[in-house]
Amino acid sequence: MSFTLAIVGRPNVGKSTLFNRLVGRRLALVDDQPGVTRDLREGEAKLGDLRFTVIDTAGLEEATDDSLQGRMRKLTERAVGLADICLFVIDARVGVTPADEVFAEILRRKARHVILAANKAEGRAGESGLLEAFSLGLGEPLALSAEHGEGMPELYAMLAPLAEGFAEAAAAAEAPVTDLDVDEDGELADGASIAPTEAKPMQIAVIGRPNAGKSTLINKILGEERLLTGPEAGITRDAISVRLSWEGTPVRIFDTAGMRKRAKISDKIEKLSVSDGLRAVKFAEVVVVLLDAAIPFEQQDLRIADLAEREGRAVVIAVNKWDAEPEKSDKVRALREACERLLPQLRGVRLVTVSARTGKGLDRLHEAVLLAHDVWNRRVPTARLNQWLATMIEAHPPPAPGGRRIRLRYMTQAKTRPPGFVVMCSNPKDLNESYSRYLVNGLRQDFDMPGTPIRLWMRSQA
Ligand code: GDP
Ligand code: GDP
Repeated sequence: MSFTLAIVGRPNVGKSTLFNRLVGRRLALVDDQPGVTRDLREGEAKLGDLRFTVIDTAGLEEATDDSLQGRMRKLTERAVGLADICLFVIDARVGVTPADEVFAEILRRKARHVILAANKAEGRAGESGLLEAFSLGLGEPLALSAEHGEGMPELYAMLAPLAEGFAEAAAAAEAPVTDLDVDEDGELADGASIAPTEAKPMQIAVIGRPNAGKSTLINKILGEERLLTGPEAGITRDAISVRLSWEGTPVRIFDTAGMRKRAKISDKIEKLSVSDGLRAVKFAEVVVVLLDAAIPFEQQDLRIADLAEREGRAVVIAVNKWDAEPEKSDKVRALREACERLLPQLRGVRLVTVSARTGKGLDRLHEAVLLAHDVWNRRVPTARLNQWLATMIEAHPPPAPGGRRIRLRYMTQAKTRPPGFVVMCSNPKDLNESYSRYLVNGLRQDFDMPGTPIRLWMRSQA
């Protein structure tokens, strides 16, 4: 299984140079073919042991018919529709331009995976552009020099885990399932229909130990009638994901229980249950960690929650089999307390009690998932952040190693999903962990971001 990478960005940032570097002599020109890729150049790329299709949106300079912006937008949307991953290139020497912001907007709305790259970053001339790139809200930029081949190992390091995820997803989706959306991007790649304005479903993974009740929960959400009486009864268990409208929210739920049950057939239960969880976490936006009320917060549960945090996913803790619980109110207090103590990295995470069997509590689970997703997407205006930073510094000044106080000069939110912030400061290396934690906890509390991973980067000013 290979994947498709689209190189997008405004003219002259170095897309073709990068394309040529990735494709080398394996270029297959499809310029003159009719269909969706007419304006797009396509080639077979090689990077380390990765093989993938790369499409390039270069050649816009010759646009004469339409306005450049309009064409740019259309072509980019088409490329985004065809791609599994978008590599968004800006020019580190020029910095962020209004046209770059147009692209960033499109990508934030439409692309599944975006890698932001600041090209022409060789030498010192690209440093300030690299910092500016954070403001696009697409995460930490990758410093590239397409011309000099710099940054390729870093690009590889970002692509490899995604490629692995695609390969596993494709393997799991081999089951002949017709009514499920097993590979949305694959459908688009066939060119059948591209609907750029259609909202992406919220991606949810339900993960938990064997017997926590994952299958029961997913089946309940799907609706009993369909699973028990429909001609397709049971088949959802063999698919990697199922798409549905959950109380009006379009969602795609990754069915790790189904994957495990499939694995049983091939006798690889243990190995697969770990990688299933990992795969689902990588693809999910919201991870529902499903616990069994009788044996909550076991080692494996904590590992799953921690993995979800490290991968930067929104998290909800659902405690299942609540129907069988005798001392409900005492128990819920104890569970909340255990949750805060055992998962400090997810402070404030929502914990809801459910019964997958009876369906009780599923409305609250739905609400908690929406809230977690919302917090995960939250954006704090830069002006408010900097006022806040000033009060935080005043209340508790940063350390002064060797008598020289570290100065925190400026702060901006670099990304969402999860929220990530950059603080420009003098000597970032000397700033200790506890001061970062102070800021993260403050952000969480003052901007109402409970239970989401929060990233904080300290950067020295260029
Ligand atoms: P495209 O329009 O985005 O496809 O950009 P091109 O690949 O045609 O590159 C535009 C210009 O930038 C060309 O003159 C390239 O030689 C130059 N260029 C591309 N990559 C780099 C780089 O890494 N460093 C520098 N300094 N120049 C580059
Ligand atoms: P999975 O391995 O996580 O997919 O778990 P299953 O959905 O197969 O459920 C494991 C066992 O727990 C089954 O016997 C279910 O009937 C039972 N179970 C699941 N949800 C509930 C629940 O809400 N209450 C009770 N009492 N039992 C449940």
